[in-house]
Amino acid sequence: MAFKTKLAEHEIQLGTRQYRIYPEGEQIAWIWQLFGANRFVWNQFVAAFEARYEANPELKFPKIGVLKSWLPLMRKEYEWLKRVNSTSLQFTVERFSDDMWAFLTKKQVKQGKPRFKSRKYYCQTATIKNVKYQTKTGAQAQIAVLSPHHLRIGKKNGITLRTSSLHNLRNVRIQKAVISYRQDLDRYYISFSVVKDKRQLAQYQVKSKKTGKAVGIDVGLGKEWLVTSDGKRFGVPDTFKLEKAMLKRQSHCDRNRTAIEKRAARFNHEHEEKIDKYDYANWQKLRKTKSKYQLKIRNIRYDYLQKVTTELVKGYDVIAIEDLKVKNLLGNHKLAHNIANASWGMFRRLLAYKCEWYGKKLIVVKPQYTSRICSECGKKNPRFAHMKTRDWLAIREWYCPYCHAHHDRDVNASKNILARAVGLGSKISKIQAGAQPC
Ligand SMILES: [Zn+2]
Repeated sequence: MAFKTKLAEHEIQLGTRQYRIYPEGEQIAWIWQLFGANRFVWNQFVAAFEARYEANPELKFPKIGVLKSWLPLMRKEYEWLKRVNSTSLQFTVERFSDDMWAFLTKKQVKQGKPRFKSRKYYCQTATIKNVKYQTKTGAQAQIAVLSPHHLRIGKKNGITLRTSSLHNLRNVRIQKAVISYRQDLDRYYISFSVVKDKRQLAQYQVKSKKTGKAVGIDVGLGKEWLVTSDGKRFGVPDTFKLEKAMLKRQSHCDRNRTAIEKRAARFNHEHEEKIDKYDYANWQKLRKTKSKYQLKIRNIRYDYLQKVTTELVKGYDVIAIEDLKVKNLLGNHKLAHNIANASWGMFRRLLAYKCEWYGKKLIVVKPQYTSRICSECGKKNPRFAHMKTRDWLAIREWYCPYCHAHHDRDVNASKNILARAVGLGSKISKIQAGAQPC
């Protein structure tokens, strides 16, 4: 894919980091001009290709280089495009090309045709590539951190923005930045894709001492989210009250939306002047409250995941987890709430990158029957073979009919996961590769 920026041999992807920005006056205008220009270019491309395929469906889709060569022509035709950051326009073209390829080749099943973008969409974004450019005094980057709370974007016609604390941007390389505006929160954000030099990680590997311990981790049921093979249990972060408050707002918000859409339609039918559902101030206020709750819940979970993964990575040298597919789990209603809540995917990504960070080993094993096999004698319990899911989930403890060992359901499962990981032996490095953050 064209928009995946390249990594050097010695670099490791650290994911994205998001900060709030506080634009004022002309800076807001600058940002909205950037959004507008990118949307304009995108829509121009969408329109061009719709017309093109209507006229001649047999035509081949041009390569990215050809598409990019149209940009300077567009900038000549529409003078105002010259005033916005050019790397962001390039990125929009790359994005369009990728989406179009995915749609044409049907690589992703659900990939639809690229569609027109609207000014009223609740989240506006523009991406700036952090390329180096030459100045008289030497090379400079498109994005520069000036102080822990200030950031400069762009070369000519750039802006300096006030931001939330940028302290964890030290010693990393910024690949690209996405500026976004969340209409429902009325906030501006900037998020960076960052990479780090692996050679710098050595210091962290020394810092975290080897413990000589290995652990298997199973996803528990109910309030116990993670259960380790040595019997430690991690709960789900308590966001119950917040969720209740959020759900209340959400249903209120949804109900109002239906009413407002009807009202807007009626108004537009009877009047010359048109309005939109987004013009209703009270509804907007409600949406903002709802979104703030959602954000709070997300932050609490994220924070909790960070703590748990750090604790695990520091405490053990080898960590074994199941290769669970979140999608499969969500199909199971009993588990659905818990898993969605516990954000398994995020947990796995964090764990994978922290293991690399601290020089530990993460092993992902097949999840089949881990909880139905006795960890003492390795035999499958025949009692569980034809049980209904509901009955099966209700079992917390059991005795093995062969060796009469007493098992806690989740601890037994995590022991099996660990045993499976150890049994993999030489295959480990291959499997670990599959555990890379995606
Ligand atoms: Zn047994």
